[in-house]
Amino acid sequence: MTKVDLSRLPRVDRVAQHPSLAGLRRRLGAEAMTRLARRVIEEARAGVRAGASCPSEEEAVARLMAAAQASLSARSRAVINATGVVLHTNLGRAPLGPRAVQALARAAGGYTSLEVDLSTGRRGPRGAFAEGALASLAGAEAVLLVNNGAAAVMLALGALSAGKKVLVSRGELVEIGGGFRVPEVLARSGAELSEVGTTNRTRVADYAQALERGGVGAILRVHQGNFRQVGFVERPERRALSALAREAGVWLVEDLGGGALVDLTPSGLGEEPTVQACVSGGVDVVCFSTDKVLGGPQGGALVGRSEAVERARRDPLARALRMGRLPLAALEETLACYLEGDLDGVPTVRMLKATPEALRARAEGWREALGARGIAVEVVMLEGAVGGGALAEAALPSAGIAFGGEDGKEDVEEVAARLRAGEPAVVGRVQEGRVLLDARTVLPGEEEALLAAVVAAVVALKR
Ligand SMILES: *Cc1c(COP(=O)(O)O)cnc(C)c1O
Repeated sequence: MTKVDLSRLPRVDRVAQHPSLAGLRRRLGAEAMTRLARRVIEEARAGVRAGASCPSEEEAVARLMAAAQASLSARSRAVINATGVVLHTNLGRAPLGPRAVQALARAAGGYTSLEVDLSTGRRGPRGAFAEGALASLAGAEAVLLVNNGAAAVMLALGALSAGKKVLVSRGELVEIGGGFRVPEVLARSGAELSEVGTTNRTRVADYAQALERGGVGAILRVHQGNFRQVGFVERPERRALSALAREAGVWLVEDLGGGALVDLTPSGLGEEPTVQACVSGGVDVVCFSTDKVLGGPQGGALVGRSEAVERARRDPLARALRMGRLPLAALEETLACYLEGDLDGVPTVRMLKATPEALRARAEGWREALGARGIAVEVVMLEGAVGGGALAEAALPSAGIAFGGEDGKEDVEEVAARLRAGEPAVVGRVQEGRVLLDARTVLPGEEEALLAAVVAAVVALKR
């Protein structure tokens, strides 16, 4: 093997401090630039050892520039969601309404009465307003707020059934997405999974048999939100299960996922169960996310009977999973919208309730505005979705605009890429060789920016 000459490798400090990188250095900081430069040179060294040629200083600077740009582009950017998926987990789920945003900003930029009772000046309970509001909206005795839906499930099972068995139907041992698998969360909570029934059919008798074997702490019911079973299927009614649990002296916990507080059936949204229905159906603790159909900030809730909820509150894990003060401020205001009947103040609810006719009229407006700027688009009827693990089958009839595709598939992908590269980024769908922008999920204040982005992307392509 020939001896490799590593002495000609560019020097880290010279590359990191190169004058052409001054702008990037200002934005990332000198430390971070040096770290990235070190990595670039390390990789070059490994390359030279493996037989590659030694990069010049210029080449190393170019590599560092690419690495620095990649590092900056990992920062989250504002996105206009034109996918039609209302609760897009990868786009941050529920956008907050103006009232919640204001409350959040006020809390963020100063001190708040988070844990102080201002009438006495003494320490007060955290989250008391939001928990009380949610309890009254859900018709429940008690509420505990935590950091997210997964935390709510883990805390409920750990507090109520650690060291004991939790009965789960084989049809409900699901993965929610993002690696949340019911069996794994259950194991981590310290409870022991005990499977009952079969994948497609589980009866009350299956649970009853398992209860007879003893050692059971709770029954867990999991909402089948992100998939649907059809055909030869059976699943006990909530009431029957709660009667059985009560008789056997075990808890009934439901992992509801979404946390709908209003009945969305009239808008053609299928049968997403409400929190109220779970509570009145006899569930001891309902767990859900506050940033799904509820339309609030990231968070999780345990809602139900005080005996069960208070047990979770006393669990040492509750402190580690508590909700942050900023989401709490946003959640308070979101729940205040519900209490006051100001449902238009909750964008998620407003978007889910938008009719195809209204969305079509909006898309017509876009078509006209774009036409006036020399861009021809077509108004099309579309199928949106709820997302966020809710209402798997519920395709929301929607409307939007379609364009591109005259010059072949490549161009459409390029238009879509240009839309994503803009500021704000626009994320739509590419289908059948055309770019589709769904009107349902574009927020009222975003229309001008959306239209400008379409013009820019299409004009850039024509050049
Ligand atoms: C979304 C979901 C979760 C997890 O909630 P996060 O807020 O994402 O932690 C758990 N269970 C079900 C059924 C869900 O739909």
